[in-house]
Amino acid sequence: MKLIFISGGVISGIGKGISAASIGLLLEKHSLKVSFLKCDPYINIDAGTMNPVEHGEVFVTDDGYEMDMDAGHYERFMDITISHKNSITTGQIYSQVIQNERNLKYDGACVEVIPHVRDEIIRRIKEAYKGSDLLIIEIGGTIGEYQNDIYYEAERYLKQILKDDLVHIHISYLPIPSSIGEMKTKPTQQSVILLNQRGIFPNIIIGRSQEHIDTPRRKKIAIATNVSDENIFSNMDVSSIYKVPIQFYDQKLDLKILELLNIKGKKINFEDWENFVSKIESKPKSILNIGIVSKYHNSGKFSLEDSYVSVIESIKIACWESGVGFNIIWVDSENIDEKELEKCDSFIVPGGFGTRGIEGKIKAIQYARENKKPYLGLCLGMQLAAVEFARNVCGIKDATSEEIDIKSKNKIIHIMPDQEKKLLNKDYGASMRLGLWECVLDKKSRAYKAYKKDVIKERHRHRYEFNNDYKEIFESKGMLFSGRSPEGELVEIMELKEHPFFIGVQFHPEFKTRPLIPHPLFLEFILSTIKNNGTI
Ligand code: GLN
Repeated sequence: MKLIFISGGVISGIGKGISAASIGLLLEKHSLKVSFLKCDPYINIDAGTMNPVEHGEVFVTDDGYEMDMDAGHYERFMDITISHKNSITTGQIYSQVIQNERNLKYDGACVEVIPHVRDEIIRRIKEAYKGSDLLIIEIGGTIGEYQNDIYYEAERYLKQILKDDLVHIHISYLPIPSSIGEMKTKPTQQSVILLNQRGIFPNIIIGRSQEHIDTPRRKKIAIATNVSDENIFSNMDVSSIYKVPIQFYDQKLDLKILELLNIKGKKINFEDWENFVSKIESKPKSILNIGIVSKYHNSGKFSLEDSYVSVIESIKIACWESGVGFNIIWVDSENIDEKELEKCDSFIVPGGFGTRGIEGKIKAIQYARENKKPYLGLCLGMQLAAVEFARNVCGIKDATSEEIDIKSKNKIIHIMPDQEKKLLNKDYGASMRLGLWECVLDKKSRAYKAYKKDVIKERHRHRYEFNNDYKEIFESKGMLFSGRSPEGELVEIMELKEHPFFIGVQFHPEFKTRPLIPHPLFLEFILSTIKNNGTI
């Protein structure tokens, strides 16, 4: 086995996921099959039950696993498909160990954190490694936190066996306090001491900062940490995350890792990625104002974009491909301001749960429909487009979704039959309609024009669906049900015929965007926005 462990120091949100994905991309260019494993120290079984404002987007994989947003970075940077095998949480590890104990798998031993919990982590590492040349293991959280210690212990133990086949990369923060005006290395020195206390001696340090690390500071870090100065790399703040692999490539980080792992490197061809990045840098023909109507972005004084990372990346990638710039306008669904809506060239209502902010989203959808502004509804965004259409076009004034009002007479969106029992039993974890499902497209539709395929496969995460009792009235008023499940029962896409672009999808196309392959639906949405603005 050849393993790369990645840890973070000093602060959270330092970009371990982006660095891991960038390193993966570079190593893959050396013709290595690279896999990932994210170790999340929380007790949750998966990220599915977490509040996105606190933890960021819940990313859904093809196999229906609900993982944290790093999965999205791995998939997008590497153009790979992540599965449940690529992620472990402390909750999964403990529940497996407890189940083993109940099944007498430990032959009556006293079950303990060491060796049993540690060994279950190692078993999962081996499982994730299977079929690859190299496994990148990202340990979630920051060194020094009580809850991730067991992962470092598993690594320490593995190092005794694997020796030079295990490399540790520590990503740390180097602040430049404005009052001091100098890059300070002490927090990094201290975070390496925390690693050392756990028996981990990093091979490489990557310093995240506003600036490149200069020679005097590189020397300081080297002396204090025993990491030679040629193994200290910079991860300077860049205008786009997609520039990080180039930054690492320029510093020959890939060659250093390969040298440490005794793998022969080769001259790599990085042109496709560089071409993509040059699109990011080229001067845009115009700037689009894209409104995202949401409730998961407010956090005190700050607007957090992490809850919608894949949606935002999908917009950006489609804009770069189309040669335009973008300005995302966060429209607060709990506090809709007509003036704010007027500023937007097009709208997206992304996925969501619960009743908070629902009426605001419906108002924004009505605005987009009536003012002929391009609209893309993602999952909840499709469901609410149906409610809005029922109320304001079909004249069903009390139209709603069962998620909003269970007692209503006109539930345009209703619970899926197999979901009802799950909710009654409070079986909320990993129990939605999840993962990849097929959808058959209507050849005369806008959706078909975008995808150019009869059958598509997209990822889902929902409990409610369109109520087919209302199909006829919708169709008579100009709605086209352009995507349906292969058995024909479930509405997966609906679109308005007489509108520049008004499409709602029951799935989450944003999870399948790739930097080099923009998602067709987002691309069509952006092209319509450009056309609608008269720019092209
Ligand atoms: N809350 C809705 C449902 O469960 C929509 C979910 C979503 O947007 N992902 O059906």
